Amino acid sequence: MCATMRAAYLPGNSAVEMRDVTVPLPGHGEVLLQVKASTICGSDIRCIYHQHLGKGPEGYQGVIAGHEPAGLIVETGPGCRRFQAGDRVIVYHISGCGVCNDCRRGFMISCTSAVYRRAYGWQRDGGMAEFMIAEEKDLIALPDELSYADGAQVACGFGTVYEGLEKIGVSGDDAVLITGLGPVGLAAGALCRKLGAQKIIGIDISKERLDLALRLGLCDVALASGQDNEAQVRELTAGHGVERAIDCSANADARATAIRATRKWGRMVMIGEGGTVTFNPSPDIIHDQKTIYGSWVTSTWKMEELVERLVRWKLHPEEIITHRFVLEQAGEAYALMASGRCGKVAVCPGGE
Ligand SMILES: [Zn+2]
Ligand SMILES: [Zn+2]
Repeated sequence: MCATMRAAYLPGNSAVEMRDVTVPLPGHGEVLLQVKASTICGSDIRCIYHQHLGKGPEGYQGVIAGHEPAGLIVETGPGCRRFQAGDRVIVYHISGCGVCNDCRRGFMISCTSAVYRRAYGWQRDGGMAEFMIAEEKDLIALPDELSYADGAQVACGFGTVYEGLEKIGVSGDDAVLITGLGPVGLAAGALCRKLGAQKIIGIDISKERLDLALRLGLCDVALASGQDNEAQVRELTAGHGVERAIDCSANADARATAIRATRKWGRMVMIGEGGTVTFNPSPDIIHDQKTIYGSWVTSTWKMEELVERLVRWKLHPEEIITHRFVLEQAGEAYALMASGRCGKVAVCPGGE
């Protein structure tokens, strides 16, 4: 093993800075991973890449970027209880204190400890490097049937969607509307399909993304974003609207469409982060008995469940990766993701 490694940082001016840093040593309860795949998230672009806008849990503290890594354990520190060198793993993207109520539910995303809650790639070194340190409690075993690129997307992307879909419940009974067909929306299409949905309607502003969703079979109908979207969705559902809607856009108009195009007694979930929405509670939700859920990321146990399902369903999250880069090209990778003219973008330091 070399004593130094290459690592990518995000200085905040729409650029990526590559540095040589020392390969870290795993401490108690930690492992050293050789990073094999590290995908880029919309939140990296929204809060860090252009400008360091995030605060609190979204505050970037100048660490090695990347919160969606999967890799191979090459060394374990003292006190590890389950994983060992040679294990393939996914890293849950936030390390929590482990003992608060949220951590005990597996939702380290909402760990209440101001001292110990640190997200990989935000407040502690992440996966845009040849190696990284992760805490053993943050690891999910990656089955042999799944690639590292599959695994990299389970924590933040597919896991976040799976959690949201479990909340609203999606089955073969449902027509589903997905607003926003970025990587999270595409993941929603893929999972809704496996859950049995036969009519999946997607809306996006980007022609590339609408085409990609259709080409991958993740939507049955792809609608360009516009004023008449609600009417179009109703027309596609015998005038009723969809049983289930998932907002992955964070766009105010798209969110309002998702709420209004949900039928009486239907459910919708908001997953896309940031932004706002305006709707009229009485006609838009109260009189039609609708339920709106919010869903933030997922839990470690639900990730384990999802990984098992992915194998059973023969669903490979890497299918929505449209571009792969080596670590030295991380700058190009982030620039492409920021352009939106792509599906998921992956950096593969270990050369999967
Ligand atoms: Zn993410
Ligand atoms: Zn905690």
